[in-house]
Amino acid sequence: MASYYNDNTIIYLNGGFVKATEAKMDLYSQSLHYGYSVFEGIRSYKTETGETKIFKAVEHFNRLQQSAAAMNMPYQWTTEELIEATYEVLKRNNLQDAYIRPVVYAPANMSFVKNTESFIVIEAWEMQPFLGDKLLRVMTSSFQRPNPKGFKIEAKAGGHYVNSILASQEAKAKGFDEALLSDMNDFVAEGPGANMFYEKDGRLFTPSLGNILPGITRATVLEICEELEISVEEKLITSNELKEADTAFFCGTAAEVIGWESLDETVFPKTWNNSVSKTIQEAYKNIVAEKIITPAEQIFA
Ligand code: PMP
Repeated sequence: MASYYNDNTIIYLNGGFVKATEAKMDLYSQSLHYGYSVFEGIRSYKTETGETKIFKAVEHFNRLQQSAAAMNMPYQWTTEELIEATYEVLKRNNLQDAYIRPVVYAPANMSFVKNTESFIVIEAWEMQPFLGDKLLRVMTSSFQRPNPKGFKIEAKAGGHYVNSILASQEAKAKGFDEALLSDMNDFVAEGPGANMFYEKDGRLFTPSLGNILPGITRATVLEICEELEISVEEKLITSNELKEADTAFFCGTAAEVIGWESLDETVFPKTWNNSVSKTIQEAYKNIVAEKIITPAEQIFA
């Protein structure tokens, strides 16, 4: 297992900064027993100027608040104060390229009634930017994404991730790198922790919102497409359509933009380095690092 903290690690806990090894949480929490919590996955990057910058911090903390609202969890923090606390966590742990994990959790409560308070922890650990040169062997999962009529699927809630864990473990047990889950109507949905796009004839396609987590990276990819005038369409995607694709990729805060080699042993025909998807991957890397592209570089990119 990865090592997320050591004896010196500092976390933000309910308004203060404490050592991770000394922090306490209530083992009678409704979050532990029922998966009733909300969280975020955020990244900070060492930018071109050497500064540490949290990528789309406002969007992530706003989503945390919206996730809490969707779950009826009290939420007493502002996005501004949590961003400030996060920068402080990064500073106190000497982190620049990091993964940041805020979790909003519930008090002791074995019933299903609403709580009058919530708690928050912000943890961070080192994570180097991913170079994205390895392509993934993806497997169509036997698990579907949760039915949106049974879950608030647009919320990043702890309990939803049992579905992700099952799907990811199944794919790895079968020798694949990652799973691809369909929605309850068997349309292509997303990975266990990332959205997906496929490329066909120089155009990109991605599942419409409704059965997927509305990813912040997905939104960034759509912005890149607009900026670079790459044609992109949000639509319902069948698995047969996807098997005819030139190439495909996952995108998410942790995954960044990572290409696929194959889906269920069908290898995608397009060489990653010649794809429009690769252009998106490069653009994403530059955006998170706030790299200024000179016009000359742009031509040859
Ligand atoms: N789908 C799921 C199920 C996820 O867990 C994530 C990661 N948060 C994503 C998509 C991608 O979202 P984002 O780009 O906001 O990280």
